[in-house]
Formats: sequence, structure tokens, C-alpha cells
Amino acid sequence: MVKINENYLKLKAGYLFPEIARRVNTFAENNPDADIIKLGIGDVTEPLPQACCDAMAKAVDEMRDRATFKGYGPEQGYPWLREKIASHDYQRRGCDIDASEIFISDGSKCDTGNILDILGDDNAIAVTDPVYPVYVDTNVMAGHTGPANDEGKYEGLLYIPITADNNFTAKVPTDQKVDLIYLCFPNNPTGAVATKEHLQEWVNYAKSVDALILFDAAYEAYITDDSLPHSIYEVEGAKDCAIEFRSFSKNAGFTGTRCALTVIPKTLTAKASDGSEVQLWQLWNRRHSTKFNGVSYIVQRGAEAVYSEQGQAEVKALVNFYLENAKIIREKLTAAGLTVYGGIHAPYIWVQAPEGLSSWDLFDKLLNAANIVGTPGSGFGAAGEGYFRISAFNSRENVNEAMKRITENLKV
Ligand code: PLP
Repeated sequence: MVKINENYLKLKAGYLFPEIARRVNTFAENNPDADIIKLGIGDVTEPLPQACCDAMAKAVDEMRDRATFKGYGPEQGYPWLREKIASHDYQRRGCDIDASEIFISDGSKCDTGNILDILGDDNAIAVTDPVYPVYVDTNVMAGHTGPANDEGKYEGLLYIPITADNNFTAKVPTDQKVDLIYLCFPNNPTGAVATKEHLQEWVNYAKSVDALILFDAAYEAYITDDSLPHSIYEVEGAKDCAIEFRSFSKNAGFTGTRCALTVIPKTLTAKASDGSEVQLWQLWNRRHSTKFNGVSYIVQRGAEAVYSEQGQAEVKALVNFYLENAKIIREKLTAAGLTVYGGIHAPYIWVQAPEGLSSWDLFDKLLNAANIVGTPGSGFGAAGEGYFRISAFNSRENVNEAMKRITENLKV
């Protein structure tokens, strides 16, 4: 009889978004004329940059012709894309990252999950709380945790709170030895950004205990202060202890087009049980070549166009558009009497629920009074209780209308 992976039965995920849908559907049934605006989802709304579309259209034409047709490409990605990324995203900012250390993939969601393939099963793992749920759920699926408790915390994971009390910085667990650490800055869901000093503390810690940092920089394009680090490799020593994930989803609007990258420096090693040093690059290269057949040529040409002069200007305009949405949301919610965080270097605004209201209370209040849907912070982890995430990914019209309704209907 076939056996299943029973770890899946431990998963709590799937609770948050179905519960949001259930409440929204009930509200819509009872209020059929309500024009509900959804500011809950982390998906982009604006069309792709023209430069990317033109490059992909040209690539489609190449596919029509036997002389320029492309079959399987290199699993790791085409060199012309990897080189552009290395020089523009890394070397230009002083990071010593070579094109060969960049692996192109179809998403950071899969990469942050798949990376566990090359790591052992008995690592001590730390995540921030709240957290992008993929890091937690993929460890649950891999059997790296025990069951969840009533708060939704899994046995065996170290949860590091990031809240207003610690200015949304993840405190280094100097009193404990952790092997694997997930960090995401600019942060989903809190919208917080990390300083170089903060990342340096993590790198110093990781090096002192031979730990590995998995750094998710999916939102780096939203950093508006250029002195802040866009990459963990801007920090001294990170090449010896960190893997970085990046995506074209949130800068160039590729959520539906799919292209991302993972950086594994060749200097990054870990000890095998026989004491030998093993290059993680080697393991990932083997994994990638075996289980992945590359991102489509057409899409990689689209991603390459992000680095053209036109592409850069268009991506900047796209990011600025969402950041302007974020500014409007911040200002209007503040004027409505709410305390807000994030939304300056990230497309997420992290709203503190007024005294006495839980995340779900604020969700219900916003839905009922203003017909606006956000995401209860408690869905991202126990320390997200009392907070609420609003996404700036929407049309200006929807954002303005949503904020108008909040100003008119929801004075707290
Ligand atoms: N990492 C973080 C922190 C995210 O918030 C998201 C998407 O919302 C992703 C990764 C997923 O990126 P991709 O679209 O490349 O899979």
C-alpha cells in the first residue's frame, strides 16, 4: 500500500486565506451591492514593462524560425542573463558575485522551498515571526518540525519575533546555536527593512556558529534609501554563510510570467558527516540540473530586458507607482487614527490594530465599515497578532477609493 508523507497532515496552512474568503463571501452575500476592494494579496496589478514585452515578442519570432529556434537551454539559465544580473545587481554595488554563481529559476517561492533538498534533516532552524509562510511550511513538509500548537507555532522551530517592540529587527539568538536562518528584507509582511549593521550582526553570528543564512531579497527594488543594503553580499563575510533569493515578480511584474534567481557563492561550504568540506554550489548545481530544465528562453529574454536602459526606467516607474500607493495608504490610515509601519521600502503596510482589537477584529471592522479586505497579521505568525497587512499592489483608483472610505467611515 502506498504511504503518504504524513508531515503534510501537520500543516496549518490553508487556514488563513480560506477563512478570509469565507468571511468576504458571507459579507458579499449579505451585502450584494457592496463594492469590495481587495488590498490583501501580494500580487502585482500593473502590466509588464514595454521593454520586457518587446523582448519576449522578438523571442517568440525567433522560435518561429528553424535558424533561431531554441530547444532546451542551460538548466542554470542563459549566460547572457546571468552576466547581466551579476554585473548590474551585484558587481555594480560592490558585491563580488560571479555569473556562474547565479542560478535562474521560475520563482523564489520554489527556490526557497527546494533549497531544503540539499540540506540535512536535523538542522536547528530559525524563522522570524511573523514570516513568509513558505519557509515554515516547506520545513513542516520535509519533516523538520513537530506538530503545531494552538498559536500555530511548530515544535522544533525557533521563532524570532519582529514587532514594534524591537523596531522590527530580528534579534540574533546569541544564547543559542542555530544552523539555518531565514531572513527576508525588505520584509513580507511587516514592510521593515534591514540596515547593514543589522545584517552584519547576523553574518557575524552565522560565521561564528557555522550557520547558513537564507536571505530572501524579493523586495529589494523597493528600497528607497540607497545607503541600505540591497543584497546580503554587501555585508562583509556574507559570501561564506549566505544564499540569496531574488525574483523578477515584484520589480518587473513577473508574478504571472515567472523568473527568479538564486545566488550560491562558490565559497560557501558546509561540513559533511565525514568531516569533508562540501561546496553548496556543487550540490545545488546537481539538484538544479537533475530536477529542473530551465526557464523558457522567451521569459529569460523578457527578464534580460529589465537591464536595458528602457527596462530600467520602466521598472523604476513601476516600483515608484506602487510606492506612491503605499505612501497614500500610510498617510490616509495615519489620518484615520491608525498606527502604521512599513510601506517606505516595501509594498506592504503593517497596521497596528487599535487597542483591544485583534487582527481579525480589525479585518471585520474594515470589511464592514469600508468594504476593504486586508490580511490579518496573525495569519503570518503568532507575533503578527494585533497587526494587519495592507498591500500597495493595486490600481491608484482602488487605493484612492479604499482610503476615502476609510477616512469617511473608520475613525478610530
Ligand atoms: N519571497 C517573498 C518574501 C514573497 O513575498 C514572495 C511572493 O509574494 C516570493 C518570495 C515569491 O516570489 P516568486 O513570485 O518569485 O515565486
